[in-house]
Amino acid sequence: MDENDPRFKPLKEQDGFALIPDRWKVDYFMSMGELSRFSLELKENGRLMGTKCPECGSIYCWPRSWCHDCYVDCEWVEMEPRGRITLFARVEISLNDIQTEVPYMQGGVQLEGARYPIVQFIRGEFEKMYPGMPVRVEFRPPEERTGRIRDFYFVPDV
Ligand SMILES: [Zn+2]
Repeated sequence: MDENDPRFKPLKEQDGFALIPDRWKVDYFMSMGELSRFSLELKENGRLMGTKCPECGSIYCWPRSWCHDCYVDCEWVEMEPRGRITLFARVEISLNDIQTEVPYMQGGVQLEGARYPIVQFIRGEFEKMYPGMPVRVEFRPPEERTGRIRDFYFVPDV
């Protein structure tokens, strides 16, 4: 037994929550398949892409390769980098190795023209946020972008 292996350590209690130490480390490549352009545009051009159904006009971001109503292939469109907060929360504990600074905010944002909101990081003052608040996309600098959704976040646009 490895004494440093968190899986053999007791839980810790924090603010009434039981936190179970665990380890899950798997290196792998996740194929973006037909939606690869989304990641490539994020990383290389700092552009937020969605897809549009040529039949009903629904715009999806996160992109979908086909429309779930019309069963036809969607076409790529560049999203307007603005939207409105639909819901939000301040997260007080770090649950993974990626977002270790707490607190941070996450929420749903309805991008202009999009059919559904996306869940993403939001920066700003929690106390000043409200449902319907206008936000805009900010991209990380090119040298920090990796093609993942962490390449951008929302900030208040008021
Ligand atoms: Zn459609």
